[in-house]
Formats: sequence, C-alpha cells, structure tokens
Amino acid sequence: MPVAKGGAHAVRPAARQRRHGAPDEKSATGRLFRKLGLDEPMDFVLHFPLRYEDETRVVPVRAVRPGSSVQVEGEILSHEVSYRPRKQLKAVLSDGDAEITLRWLNFYPSQVKQVEPGMRVRALGEVRGGLWGCEMVHPRIRRSDAPLPEALTPVYPTTSGLSQPVLRQAVLHALAQADLSDPLPERVRERYGLMPFGDAVHQLHAPGPGDTGDGMESQTHPAWLRVKFDELLAQQLSMAEARALRQHQRAWPLIVAQDADTLPTRLLSSLPFALTAAQQRVVADICHDMARAHPMHRLLQGDVGSGKTVVAALAAVQAIAAGAQVALMAPTEILAEQHYLKLDSWLAPLGITTVLLNGRLGQKARRLAQAAIESGEAALVIGTQALIQDKVSFNRLGLVIVDEQHRFGVGQRLALGRKGEQPPDEGAMLPHQLMMSATPIPRTLAMTYFSDLDVSVIDELPPGRTPVKTKLIAEHRRGELAEYLADAVRAGRQAYWVCPLVEESEALDLQNAVDTHAGLQVLLPGLRIGLVHGRLPQAEKSAIMDAFRAGEMDILVSTTVIEVGVDVPNASTMVIEHAERFGLAQLHQLRGRVGRGSAASICVLLYQAPLSQVARQRLRAMFETEDGFEIARRDLELRGPGEFLGVRQSGVALLRFADLQADAELAEQARDAASYLRQACPEAARAHLQRWLRGREDYLRT
Ligand code: ADP
Ligand code: MG
Repeated sequence: MPVAKGGAHAVRPAARQRRHGAPDEKSATGRLFRKLGLDEPMDFVLHFPLRYEDETRVVPVRAVRPGSSVQVEGEILSHEVSYRPRKQLKAVLSDGDAEITLRWLNFYPSQVKQVEPGMRVRALGEVRGGLWGCEMVHPRIRRSDAPLPEALTPVYPTTSGLSQPVLRQAVLHALAQADLSDPLPERVRERYGLMPFGDAVHQLHAPGPGDTGDGMESQTHPAWLRVKFDELLAQQLSMAEARALRQHQRAWPLIVAQDADTLPTRLLSSLPFALTAAQQRVVADICHDMARAHPMHRLLQGDVGSGKTVVAALAAVQAIAAGAQVALMAPTEILAEQHYLKLDSWLAPLGITTVLLNGRLGQKARRLAQAAIESGEAALVIGTQALIQDKVSFNRLGLVIVDEQHRFGVGQRLALGRKGEQPPDEGAMLPHQLMMSATPIPRTLAMTYFSDLDVSVIDELPPGRTPVKTKLIAEHRRGELAEYLADAVRAGRQAYWVCPLVEESEALDLQNAVDTHAGLQVLLPGLRIGLVHGRLPQAEKSAIMDAFRAGEMDILVSTTVIEVGVDVPNASTMVIEHAERFGLAQLHQLRGRVGRGSAASICVLLYQAPLSQVARQRLRAMFETEDGFEIARRDLELRGPGEFLGVRQSGVALLRFADLQADAELAEQARDAASYLRQACPEAARAHLQRWLRGREDYLRT
C-alpha cells in the first residue's frame, strides 16, 4: 500500500486523471474544477447541489415576508446610487399593488443598467425587514420577458471564479457521460426502499417540474435519501474492508509468561499506586490482543486524568518482555518529553532503555539515538512526528502507541504503523497498534468512524481526586482573582494561566500572553511567574516546564501549548482567559490539568461579555458537568461530527451529505446492507466503494 502524502488528491494514481468532455484541465476553468475535486464525470455526478432556487413562481410583493427567499416581478419605479454611509445601489420595484426596495452594496455598472426605471424585471432573493418596509439585498435580476423555468434551479458549492451556470452545464454534461448503472441489486434496493441511483442523481441535478416539494431543500426527498444511504454504505464498506484486511495481516504474538518475575509484574509492584478496576480491565484487553498473531488495532478512551499513561507503560513492558521494540508517538514535544521522564523513571529500574527523539537533540545526540533505535538497544522510543521520518529505522518494532490520537492526521498514524512493516516479501508483519484518546466518542460516531477499531474505555478516575470547581468570571472582575491566587500560592499550590489563540494570528497570540504575564507580575509582586509559548526554542520550553514541575515557579502563563496531557499534580488552579474563544473539548482538556492532586482545585473561566449563543452554551456545559462523555455529547451537538473529530484537515473523506444524528436510522441500515453485500455480492460492494471513494480508501483506515 502506498503511503499517502499531502491531501486526498495525492493518492490518486495518475491514470485516473483522465479528461472528459468538460473544459480542458489545463484551462482556467479546468483548474477551478480540480480545486473542487472535480475531475472525472463521476466526480461531477457526485457534486450535489447545496440548495435550490425556486424561480418557477412569482410571489405578489404584498405577500412577501422577511426571512423567506422568493421571486417577485414588476416595474422599476426608480433607482439611485448613493455614497453615504457607503456606496450602494437602491431601486424600487412595484408590481402595481405594492413596492419593495432592492439594494446592492457591491455592484457593477452593468447591474445599474439592469434596473433602469421603467424596466420590467424579476428579482429573486432573500427578503429582509427594513426600516421602510421589506427589502431584498443583492437580489438576482432577470428580465421579465424570459419564460419562467418549470423546475427548481440547483445551486452548487463552488469556488470563486466559477459561476453557477458553468458548473451546472458541466454537471449536466457529466450526467450524460458517466456510467450511472446501479451497483446495488434490486432486492437490496427494495429492502430499504431505495430509488435507483441513476434516477436519484438525475432528480437532484435536474429536478423535474414536479420536484418542487420541501424534500429537495431539506434533503429528505427519496433522491437525497438514496445519496445519503450510498455515502454511508461506502463508509461502512470501507471500514469492514479495513477490518477484514487486518485479519489477514500478521503480527508477532507478544506473549509473556504468567509468573511473578515478569517485567509487567515488576512494574506493577514498583508503582506508588494500584491500578483501578477499569485500568486492569483495559490492560487485560490489550494484553489479550497483543498475544494474537494479528495486529491489534485498539482505541483506548479515557477521560482526561483517567490514567492512560500507565496502561501504555504496561502494554510497552509486555511487548518489550516478549522481545519487541516499542514506539510511542505524542502530538507535542512537551508531551513527548513528559512521557519520557515518567516512563523512564518507571522502566529504567527494570533495566529497560528508553530513548527520546525530539527536535531538541543536536546532530550528534540524534545520531546516537538513531543508532540505539536501529540496534535495538533502545527498547522504548518516544517522540513526536519525528518518529515517522524516513531516517528512523526501528528494530523489531512490535507495538506502536499513539497518544492523543485525535491530534494526528490519519496519514501520520498510518505512516508510523508502516514503519514496523517487515520486508513485504516476508509476508508483511505489522506492529500492534494502541491509540489513546481523551476525547470520548459518542456511540453513533464510534460506530461510523471507528467501526474498524476495537475500543476499550477507562470509565473511572483514580481514587482520591477532588472534583474541580468551575467558576465563570467576567473579564472586568479579573482583579479579584489576584487575591485568590496569592492565597493558593501561599498554601504551596501552583496555577496555570492560559491565554487563547487570537484569530489564528501567532503574533497577536503571543502578545496577549506576554501582556498577561507582565500584568500578573505587577498584580502579584513577589510571586514566581513564568511564561511559556510556542515561539520559544524547544530547550527553553522544556526548561520552563521542568521548573514548573519541580515547584520552582508559582504561576505558569502559557498559550495553549499545555493543552494536552501535561501532568503536574501540585497545580490546583487553572485560569483560562477569554474562555469564550475556546472550543468545548479544549476547555475540558485544560480543566483536566488540575484536580490531579489531593488539594481542592478550581478552574476559572474568564470571559468577555457579550457572549455569543454558542459560547454561552459551551461555558454553561463546562459549569454544569465534569463528565467527559457528557461534554463530548454536547460538543458534538454544537459543532457537528466533522469538527468534532478534528479530521477535517486530515484528508478523511467525511460524510458530505448524511448527518449522523439526523440520519441515524439510515446509518444502521447502511451497516446491515454493508455486511450483506460483502457476503452475497462482493462485486457490487467493490463497485460501490470504487464509485464513492475513488482511491481514497486508505484514509479511512485509522
Ligand atoms: P491521562 O489519562 O489524562 O493521560 P495520566 O496517565 O496522565 O492521565 O494520569 C493522571 C495522573 O493519575 C498521573 O499523575 C498518574 O500517575 C495518576 N494515576 C494513574 N493511575 C492511577 C491510579 N490507579 N491510582 C492513582 N493515581 C493514578
Ligand atoms: Mg495523557
């Protein structure tokens, strides 16, 4: 299997880049099509309308209501270009009975000509309530002498420079060219009441005069249902295939004898705590998987602070005891380093060598580390994405652990898995894979996106945790915090103070943290206040984190670099500035940094009023619950699955049409259909997958 680099397009074999009748791919239009991922006829066929415009009817002006999108027809009474408060074009249209204002804030001279007084036109657009009655902003103007179209007009997702008529034309052209045969056998279609594929796509792209119902707009029309079903089916098929493939792949069985003196038992007895029942259960799951001759593919879910690291350590030790090398990949250098410190302190006494591979190593140290990895002297290798660089070659890599897996693109995870692939001619031995995540995934999502993974859940926190109290405080009252912080520090506690990303601008982001740091130093003289942010050289970042961990610093001001996984039990206060700008999952992760010791902990969410509706809901969720699953559920509600999974950038073919919440029933049906098709008509299954994924299957294998 080729390792995919870059975007989804990179995996397309060159032979697929055939042209079809639409404009030459080298032309400007061709480039725009390709920007939308439109290349072969089937790409155009599967490029479905975003919505429809109803130009079939003309509504009396008297009857228009704000909020609706309608077409009116009448005579232009007047028009005017004015320059205050800004340049705009205004026209008044009357249908003889009532008047409506048309307004453009950006316009071309040609548009002024379209609304000369005395002309009869049709205007189509959204109606807003204005000071002087209803108006349409940026309506589309057509001359009245053209006949009214008989059907809805599709409106496509497009990109700047590509007009709707051009796109529409190309889609119609592709409809005539593409092979629209239905891969689903009739009995399957009947069973789920599905419309034939060809009919469905024709109806969506070129609605007939009868297709004017609400179903087209709300995507509940049978044609839409067919498309959504197909999409879900493709996804299920691809997951099932990935799972089946794994059954044919081989891995080392990593088995450890069951006696008292094995590495795992020695590690367990050296820990300062006993495993929780949940930890024991997941460790057993993992050990069982690793003992098999097929690669493990397990997702370990556990809320922030539930103790996933020790589970990873036990898995690593079992693999090492069985003679394999282990790689652990973390999303940030800070986290990799922290894992190194913790795991090395646990494993070194057992005689296990751990190596940290990070950007901070000099040339020589790096070469030494690489040599130790290659020779197998390093039994455990910890690092960031640096681990998947070509220069690193492992020695008997038997287990790959990915921490905070949702932080990685799918491609990166695949690449690390393949690092351990033994020469293919030996029948491809693959390493076992353990993925860890603090983002609990609600059931519907897990079923769809991770159905090819086995999942273990740590559903219990280690004992002795004190709940974190969450307080919402408006920005202008931040002064009151100073006293509280001073008290906490006097009692020997430490605090985090996190500043948000400002509008994706790193410079501003930094300035914000620097200012806050300076402000706190004035507000809290005598306290030891540190500052860490993404721009610092790695060595400096590490030194600051070390100092904070060692208690040599009272307050750590930071950008979001500490978001994932940092573990300093003595820190009991978390202040999050501009909490309204953070996502819910991020807030929950940050709050999870405190409440790890025995002291009562507090998380202060500083916010700037007024709050947007969504921000208000996020902050309320934080205030109301500490339960990671509940937070995840609400997050999913607020953001939708794509954003929630954070896979948008990773190239995974996300569901574009189906909605896992609204179409849950369809998803269940698609799952049934997938298993039936794989058994009864594998050819159909393959054809369907090919049509929908077009060479992107690889990305669905997490
Ligand atoms: P996360 O699941 O967020 O990665 P960590 O592995 O960092 O959590 O664990 C959080 C803290 O809990 C660490 O300080 C760890 O040593 C401690 N811990 C883990 N398991 C237990 C346990 N069974 N009993 C007590 N403390 C534990
Ligand atoms: Mg962790």
